Amino acid sequence: MCGIVGYVGHRSALDVVLQGLGRLEYRGYDSAGVAVLTSAGALAVTRKAGALRNLIGELDTCGRAGLSGTAGMGHTRWATHGAPTDRNAHPHRDTAGQLALVHNGIIENHVQLRAELEAGGVELISDTDSETAAHLLAAAYIACGDLPQAVQTVCRRLQGAFTLVVAHADEPDLIVAARRSSPLVLGVGNGEHFVASDVAAFIDHTRDAIELGQDQVVTITRDGYQITDFSGCPAQGTPFHVDWDLSAAEKGGYDYFMLKEIEEQPSAIANTLRGHFIDGRIVLDEQRMDIQELRDVDKVFVVACGSAYHSGMVAKYAIEHWCRLPVEVELASEFRYRDPVLDRSTLVVAISQSGETMDTLEAVRHAREQKARVLAICNTNGAQIPRESDAVLYTHAGPEIGVAATKSFLAQLAANFLVGLALAQARGTKYSDEVGREYAELEAMPAAVTQVLDTVDRVRELAGELVDAKVVLFLGRHVGFPVALEGALKLKELAYMHAEGFAAGELKHGPIALLEPNLPVVVVMPSPKGRSVLHPKLLSNIQEIRARGARTIVIAEEGDETVRPYAAHLLEVPAVPTLMQPLVSTVPLQVLAAEIARQRGYDVDKPRNLAKSVTVE
Ligand code: GLU
Repeated sequence: MCGIVGYVGHRSALDVVLQGLGRLEYRGYDSAGVAVLTSAGALAVTRKAGALRNLIGELDTCGRAGLSGTAGMGHTRWATHGAPTDRNAHPHRDTAGQLALVHNGIIENHVQLRAELEAGGVELISDTDSETAAHLLAAAYIACGDLPQAVQTVCRRLQGAFTLVVAHADEPDLIVAARRSSPLVLGVGNGEHFVASDVAAFIDHTRDAIELGQDQVVTITRDGYQITDFSGCPAQGTPFHVDWDLSAAEKGGYDYFMLKEIEEQPSAIANTLRGHFIDGRIVLDEQRMDIQELRDVDKVFVVACGSAYHSGMVAKYAIEHWCRLPVEVELASEFRYRDPVLDRSTLVVAISQSGETMDTLEAVRHAREQKARVLAICNTNGAQIPRESDAVLYTHAGPEIGVAATKSFLAQLAANFLVGLALAQARGTKYSDEVGREYAELEAMPAAVTQVLDTVDRVRELAGELVDAKVVLFLGRHVGFPVALEGALKLKELAYMHAEGFAAGELKHGPIALLEPNLPVVVVMPSPKGRSVLHPKLLSNIQEIRARGARTIVIAEEGDETVRPYAAHLLEVPAVPTLMQPLVSTVPLQVLAAEIARQRGYDVDKPRNLAKSVTVE
């Protein structure tokens, strides 16, 4: 949450920072602000509530002349403490207006720090936790006269998760940044350096990056950088080269990133699978854990949040079926608070697109303290969750900018299936030819998803009919249940409609009371062939819904004629193996939610109150 960028170099800092904020806006859009160390030796700050375009409007109205300089920083906020107003927008300043700070995360001891500052006569003007750090830094700088040292001193006092970027008018040529549990990468250019929450902020200028480690401070100047720990001892980050194409971070002719990302799903699956089946065996080559260690696992926990949690539910069906291993799927935010029973033979699979989801990170830490082994499934190279896990399997979906998960979800499903097959192979619950056949089925999935994408015009028409609905229900059984939950989540987050997903069998235990004439109910049908025992059950459920006058929208396998008489709308998807059905049946629901949101006039990429990577608990 929140996007941060800092720059020192030879270009206009304002231009570089605004461009960077544009690429980071998916991280938060409650307010945006910039600070520039001006050529005149001052510190100029402009900030505005709302999306980045409001800040740009403000700059266009008031003029940019006062913000010329080659060092600066910016912030796009996802508010945690204090309303999304101009007053609470970052950068925050000290009382003298000499120091500016942007912050990502939560300073958990802000109440004590505020009381201490106020007792010392400091007047805080915002409601944020972040402003306390600005005043502490100003005092520390006066005491030591050295900005990096002041940052180290203050970081030692802060509790919680934070990335800070700091500038001081008396130090016109440097920017100092620090991190604990929130993301921070350094961009190394030629005569210019960058700090940011995400490489997307600076890939127009350099692809050479360094991931900062936990509790590190970096000072950037035009010509170099210096990394220390919070005690001032020299430290090192992890260098990496950004290999994805800039076009991946641009809309490429689509109105919204999300629409582009939906279309990219076949390649997200293919890229995630690539290189993981060699000489007849599943290879999880990015993991540091010996695959044979998986042989000793006697229990699996999948921990994740949001869409990743729904992908984890599918993993449960696959791993239990293929590996005969008990699997529990847990919301990461609940996991560590209920004292789960874990030991050395437990495998925890932690799924997070960003690799920095704080709830999931804390679950990983808890699991490792209990000696469980942790395998991360992430889409972001070098992020905190993979760094703290025993092993990592990267999804190669490319950058996902739309806040609602789409291609990352399908890529997670593909990765989960790889983990399931690797476990089955290591434990011998499947013969190698069986593993090979399942993998071949997976390899055919990008083509099946492409086939769904070719037919989504019908979904757009349907969206027009649902645009004024107040409530939409989603039902599914077996792997169709997580698809129903994911469909409902998409509609909630994008179209702000009340949507609920249920296990279809639960309908009669309560939710059936919600049914009324014309209420739209989306039913995810299983294949009539696969686990055929499920198909007649769902068929009965559809008739129960019809009997109460509700409107049935049915997602079913091509050629499933049994369902047609009961479907007010039938959306067909290609026949695929039972466990892999979520890879095709989720797609129409993503398009449906995006299209309803678009027709309601909402910003599909930036749903209200949400941000992409949730770096607070
Ligand atoms: N806690 C800070 C605030 O509410 C920073 C939030 C963020 O990460 O954007 O302003």
